[in-house]
Amino acid sequence: MNMRGLRKYWGWVLLAIMLTAAWSWTLGPAVLVAGWALVTGFFLFQAPVWCGAEGRQGPCRNNSSGILLGCNQVRQHKWQKLKLTFVPRRWRELNKGLWVNPTKCLATTGAIVGIVSGVVSTSIQLVG
Ligand SMILES: [Zn+2]
Repeated sequence: MNMRGLRKYWGWVLLAIMLTAAWSWTLGPAVLVAGWALVTGFFLFQAPVWCGAEGRQGPCRNNSSGILLGCNQVRQHKWQKLKLTFVPRRWRELNKGLWVNPTKCLATTGAIVGIVSGVVSTSIQLVG
């Protein structure tokens, strides 16, 4: 993998590292939290995926960064999904845009795994 690919896909690499290393308890809580926060942030705002914003011709197929940001080509798309996250009655619409193709499904799953693992590993550390 070249440097450009690494810059684009580092979150996937980090996710793999976290999934294998995070549960071995050799990492301190600060590293765990930072690691999972980075993974979550990557999938929410940086992972290369389809825009997926609902349009007249179905979900938008332009490239965008992260599952919550839209493409740069259509002005309304850029912040559309991020805005939807603050409007509970539109979560159905938002949710539809998160599963438009396999890559996006994976990125959405990655973000969920990041959030859940971050919360779980942090609470285990706090309790134990
Ligand atoms: Zn778009």
